[in-house]
Amino acid sequence: MNPGAKPTWFIGPWELSAATAVLPPSPAAGRVLLVESTGKGSALPYHRWKLVLVLSALRHFAEELRAQGFEVDHRVAPSYAEGIRAHLAERGPAEVIVQAPAEWGIAQSIGTLAVELAGRVRVEGDRRFLTSREAFAQWAEGRKLLRMEDFYRWQRRRLGFLVDGRGEPLGGQWNLDRENRQGAKALRKRGVPAAPTRCPPDAITQRVMRMVGGARATPAGGMSFAAHWGSVDGFDLPVTRAEALAALEEFLACRFADFGPYEDAMLRGEVYLYHSRLSAAMNVGLLHPREIVERAIARYEQGGVSLASCEGFVRQVIGWREYVNGIYWLTMPGYRAHNYFGFSRPLPQLFWEPDRTDLACVRDSVAMVRDTAYAHHIHRLMVLSNFATLAGVHPLRLSEWFWAGFADAMEWVELPNVVGMATFGDGGLLASKPYVSSAAYINRMSDYCGGCRYDPKQRTGPDACPFNYLYWSFLDDIRQRKHDVGQRMALVLKGLERISAAELAAMREARARFVESLAPDTTGWTFHHDQG
Ligand SMILES: Cc1cc2nc3c(=O)[nH]c(=O)nc-3n(C[C@H](O)[C@H](O)[C@H](O)COP(=O)(O)OP(=O)(O)OC[C@H]3O[C@@H](n4cnc5c(N)ncnc54)[C@H](O)[C@@H]3O)c2cc1C
Ligand code: SF4
Repeated sequence: MNPGAKPTWFIGPWELSAATAVLPPSPAAGRVLLVESTGKGSALPYHRWKLVLVLSALRHFAEELRAQGFEVDHRVAPSYAEGIRAHLAERGPAEVIVQAPAEWGIAQSIGTLAVELAGRVRVEGDRRFLTSREAFAQWAEGRKLLRMEDFYRWQRRRLGFLVDGRGEPLGGQWNLDRENRQGAKALRKRGVPAAPTRCPPDAITQRVMRMVGGARATPAGGMSFAAHWGSVDGFDLPVTRAEALAALEEFLACRFADFGPYEDAMLRGEVYLYHSRLSAAMNVGLLHPREIVERAIARYEQGGVSLASCEGFVRQVIGWREYVNGIYWLTMPGYRAHNYFGFSRPLPQLFWEPDRTDLACVRDSVAMVRDTAYAHHIHRLMVLSNFATLAGVHPLRLSEWFWAGFADAMEWVELPNVVGMATFGDGGLLASKPYVSSAAYINRMSDYCGGCRYDPKQRTGPDACPFNYLYWSFLDDIRQRKHDVGQRMALVLKGLERISAAELAAMREARARFVESLAPDTTGWTFHHDQG
């Protein structure tokens, strides 16, 4: 080490703007290091939109920092840790400062490097959230149940969002969800908003799109993009802080007021509806959650936005998002192994090739992910994960698909959502019940069933919707195996008593035939959870 040398600040692909990065206090104080990790890029068959998002946002940030006078070392390496090692060897900084990495595998490899090169790599706390990992662990300490609702109230009080001077919730209630949850009919009546404004790819993004695009893409800087899902066509996500800020303002002006009432509804062919579409920008660090919530509350205070819409949105950002990050760091690496119901089925190939299924809701939701690397929360929870759970798919196989398929996916957020919330794989650590439903829910919340070859009202027979016989057979399994699925399921389990033994037997037979008919994943794609 050169004792007079300046330090280097490493910027990971989860902190790609000044809003979230830990940077040198001035260009004279030290260098900045940005690494394109070939190992990370090929660890999973990431959707090509995800690759374009990360690589383009990283290259834009490198350019911005250079324009501000920073010395930037932007390099390609087999892993982030190897990039840091090579930088240390070539540039000889006093030390490399790293903001805590966003994923377990990367945290492990950089942590190992920090031990090996004691004193030359320093990992600092994570500043991308409103709740540090330590604060979450303190909140969790000694609690029997780590419920999101308790965490969320603690957050509101602690951060002073939407509370009065006594720390009580504005409007008198913590949760205004009852005023939300409108279905497809009400949404049709309200009308569909214009889709978020596209962020047209500039020269940097177009270069990345050419590199990542195409099924037989040539290796670039050691990275081959042949084995990846989706295409780059139509890519229009924000890749700079300016674009992300504009996207936030557009959401607040055009869709925020109707976010709450229609957040659970789905319409055929409509992707974003009244959702914000900010998760991808947030997860690569183009926006900080604090500014999002502060701007949302300021917009609510101007009038024209109901408290229910504002509270519903704030709950997602300071509640769910912070909570799943806390759960992830509290439980890793063991969380990946959870499989409460003991499912063993592989991921069906239809998750990669939606035309293989004639279940309209599943086909359209998978096609939406393939085409936009996005689907809103209810597609993820009540169509895709509901289907996989009822079909007995192993939670980790589903988690891998979510991790690879979505532009906003990072393990810290998809894993607790899939293994905890969506599949009850953790046995109820995160969710108070399994989020499963029959066709009735999908029929109420969407307009898919009208255009489907199946009948959402039939439980048996050739036209019966598979969600129905899968759902009732699943509940019957829970009853027979005496799984503890929480009090909130008591009423639906009681519903089994109204079904005759003969009908239940017919549904179980239909389930057996149906799941046997699901072709397993044949892509041969590999998932290296910790690589990168
Ligand atoms: C099975 C499953 C997998 C998911 N995987 C991811 C993922 O990989 N990455 C991801 O960011 N979100 C994930 N989510 C959470 C949520 O579905 C997405 O954050 C949301 O759909 C993103 O779209 P949006 O930006 O339009 O969100 P909006 O509906 O507009 O919500 C606003 C913001 O709240 C946050 N948020 C809302 N719900 C959650 C939640 N459950 N967990 C964490 N943050 C939340 C997001 O930052 C989001 O941008 C998953 C949910 C489920 C059920
Ligand atoms: S009928 Fe069943 S499979 Fe078809 S769209 Fe409705 S819920 Fe989905």
